[in-house]
Amino acid sequence: MTFDLEMLRQHYAQWTQRCDDVRQSCNRPLTLTEKILLTHLWSDSNASPAQLRRGVDYVDFAPDRVAMQDATAQMALLQFMQAGRPSVAVPSTVHCDHLIQAKAGAATDLREAVDKNKEVFDFLSSVSDKYGIGFWKPGAGIIHQVILENYAFPGGLMIGTDSHTPNAGGLGMIAIGVGGADACDVMAGLAWELKMPRIIGVHLRGKLSGWASAKDVILKVAGILTVKGGTDAILEYFGDGAQSLSATGKSTICNMGAEIGATTSIFGYDHRMAEYLRGTGRKDVATMTDAIASHLTGDPEVYANPTAYFDQVIEINLDELEPHINGPFTPDLAWPLSQFAQAVREHGWPAQLDVGLIGSCTNSSYEDISRSASIAAQAASKKLKAQSEFTITPGSEMVRYTVERDGLLKHFDAIGGVVLANACGPCIGQWARHSDDPQRKNSIITSFNRNFAKRNDGNPNTHAFVASPEIVTALAIAGDLTFNPMTDSLINTEGFEVTLDEPQGLAFPPKGFEVADSGYQAPAIDGASVKVHVHPDSDRLQLLDPFAAWEGTDLTGMPLLIKAQGKCTTDHISMAGPWLKYRGHLDNISNNMLIGAVNAYTGQTNSVRNQLTGAYGAVPEVQRAYKAAGLGSVVVGDENYGEGSSREHAAMEPRHLGVRVILVRSFARIHETNLKKQGMLALTFANKADYDLIQENDRMDVLGLNEFRPGQALRMRLTHEDGSAKELQLNHSYNEAQIAWFRAGGALNIIRAQAAGHS
Ligand code: SF4
Repeated sequence: MTFDLEMLRQHYAQWTQRCDDVRQSCNRPLTLTEKILLTHLWSDSNASPAQLRRGVDYVDFAPDRVAMQDATAQMALLQFMQAGRPSVAVPSTVHCDHLIQAKAGAATDLREAVDKNKEVFDFLSSVSDKYGIGFWKPGAGIIHQVILENYAFPGGLMIGTDSHTPNAGGLGMIAIGVGGADACDVMAGLAWELKMPRIIGVHLRGKLSGWASAKDVILKVAGILTVKGGTDAILEYFGDGAQSLSATGKSTICNMGAEIGATTSIFGYDHRMAEYLRGTGRKDVATMTDAIASHLTGDPEVYANPTAYFDQVIEINLDELEPHINGPFTPDLAWPLSQFAQAVREHGWPAQLDVGLIGSCTNSSYEDISRSASIAAQAASKKLKAQSEFTITPGSEMVRYTVERDGLLKHFDAIGGVVLANACGPCIGQWARHSDDPQRKNSIITSFNRNFAKRNDGNPNTHAFVASPEIVTALAIAGDLTFNPMTDSLINTEGFEVTLDEPQGLAFPPKGFEVADSGYQAPAIDGASVKVHVHPDSDRLQLLDPFAAWEGTDLTGMPLLIKAQGKCTTDHISMAGPWLKYRGHLDNISNNMLIGAVNAYTGQTNSVRNQLTGAYGAVPEVQRAYKAAGLGSVVVGDENYGEGSSREHAAMEPRHLGVRVILVRSFARIHETNLKKQGMLALTFANKADYDLIQENDRMDVLGLNEFRPGQALRMRLTHEDGSAKELQLNHSYNEAQIAWFRAGGALNIIRAQAAGHS
């Protein structure tokens, strides 16, 4: 399954020596995070491990793997096709999980999704087949669970086009969520850049018991660090408590670490990981990792004296950890179970629970499902039914097949549970929720990871809470948010008062995992003759043409397209919502370009002056008019332009529609790099006050491009409508390689030329 055991053998054969080299260079013991990152430095980078400053320096790395989900894979792979390579440079997989809407139950929902998204799935299947990419069909499972079961390995570095990629940290892998542009680069053979993260140590002592589970660890950590506390940091868990957790429990913690803004989270290798590797058919990998076990975790000196090596240390005693419920509307509002009922009453949150949902990539292991099933089974035997709607989303077909074989699903069925497809479904808002009145304030509780307003059902009146699957199951049975299964009783259908016993579960199925059809499609051995399926009339997919190279002259006579005022995030530049349907069709999605940006002259969005006609029009329309007239244009922005999630469309759309220059007070770093990769000019005002000099009807020339070199400013001549002119100094942060991208018309044009040279 595109898992190259020989490559892994070589990786581990060099591992100890590479760690020793890094340790020697740094002249101190190493955290696990440092071992993995510093042994994955890009070979051409001049970075010296000892000098890298955490939270400051941007560093080039060489990841081992790439994983993509179906929604984000589309543009990543359309771009990759531009690289001219016969196959991907590193092992890569595509997972069809985000486009399946939950409505009636697994079988019907899956059939409908396959029908509705056929052209997207056909494209992803054929492009994977052609370029050596493993393809997991709709229904095979959720990306992170499938990665954990098949590809994650201790000591590896992976990027994935999804924010919960850190799930693989449960198997000792540094796994980081990125945008499609980064995935494309790595598949094309380029380096991947990351700000050297801070490292937060989380010391877990003791052992969980009773109703407490791994989920409660991360719910507690989220309460401590809040949604921003992990920014630019990797959380490294250690201690006897860490070793007591199953590998899938560790993954739950790493997965939900995305909610505190962490770059990723990781656990050191231990016997629980070895157990998971063996239990999921990877005995060979476990034998290799066991042989170097002590090197696949942080050095003992680090864990003995953590404050000397971590930027911050958090202590949690699992013996005392209470189950938690977090929310509503934010995952860091953490309530110990014993205080939650009072919080519900005090805040006036709807106590009636409408729906309980378990599963998702965060909590769908055999252990999770068996513990929840034990609650459902005792409820059924005690003559209780779920009072709320109750859904179960298995994370993969392997888990689903096995729990069905072992008779666990029937316990959910007995209390009224509905099993959904092995896909994201309600977790990503793909949920045709039945609601009597969408205006009514209502409560749901999930074992997912995100609970921001509208995330699950698009309804701002829904109060979404997050808890472990076993707590969700108990509350769905009660139908009441204020129910505490540790202390309260329920009245059953025969009028008797009953209580729920603590959940019981198993980390592994006693008869082993089994699956009839995993849903995996291996790529062609030689993809040269494989045709990629994209219908020319499709409105969801469009093959890309290479962008034109720089014409070799200064850029002159460019009208201002928009001067954006204030915040202009990637969401303002390329809105999500209904537009996501077109994420594989650059021309169609470009109709959302900058429609959320505020025009500094009018205070309005999506209305700018067309200098050719004097009339106001929508931003994409006006830009298309400039393009038709053969005019490049300039977008002017304020501070931190392009902040927010890394969305390659925000850089590709202006490039596609003919914008040549983005000139701002300051850039968000990732967006600035994305613009450079697309061959755009990403420039900043040398004097920030010059932003105020730009007038609505200005024409602009960028001068000095023939002498474009690192560290040397460019110039702009502004010509106002009255004919007066001014010259401004413009700064840039291009290095030699990035200037070459600009000249070639984009980084992929260079790769394609190199690939052609080698063929
Ligand atoms: S299940 Fe939810 S969190 Fe996991 S990949 Fe899907 S949408 Fe993302």
